[in-house]
Amino acid sequence: MKNFMFSLLASVAALPAFAEETREMQAHIHGVSTLEFAVEGQTAEAMLKAPGMDLVGFEYRAESEEDKAAVASALTQLQDPATVLLLPTEAGCELSEVDAHLSEDADHHDDHDDHHDEDHAEHEHEHEHEHADHEDEDAHNEFLAHYHFTCANPEALTQLTFSFFDTFAQAKEVDVTYVTDAGVGAAEATRDEPVISLK
Ligand SMILES: [Zn+2]
Repeated sequence: MKNFMFSLLASVAALPAFAEETREMQAHIHGVSTLEFAVEGQTAEAMLKAPGMDLVGFEYRAESEEDKAAVASALTQLQDPATVLLLPTEAGCELSEVDAHLSEDADHHDDHDDHHDEDHAEHEHEHEHEHADHEDEDAHNEFLAHYHFTCANPEALTQLTFSFFDTFAQAKEVDVTYVTDAGVGAAEATRDEPVISLK
């Protein structure tokens, strides 16, 4: 399965129009989550990466009981893929594997410094403002959720509906990249347009 996801990433990175967007995604924009979706035979796989800001409203390491409870609650919600996305019922998909965890990304600090004087200046300003009250102001923790499904009719996987925006009130957008038998593509799901086509 690891090779499968790698080939998805390689395919998407090969799309010229996607290179710029991929760089932005690595810089992690508040309000923008990413989802990689891949279908191979009867297996469908979804990998969500969401800024902590979108799910719990902070990205520093949870220390208070209240913050720890918020992280635990978000992780519990992510255990159920229906809090993130709904697959067409005709596809007959059953969840076969799930993993949800918090990524405390140490590399992010370096990313930010690299981009500080470049085109991300506006975004950096937001971050400085939002994190100014916290000791750990450079932290940009992300939630990662990984789902495997086994689908009776994978050809019916023609669209994804994001329940994500109902579950997480601060989420604004999900940038989706996908690989199916029909091809490779990218789409953007938003609060106003939470359904994307996989064609
Ligand atoms: Zn952030």
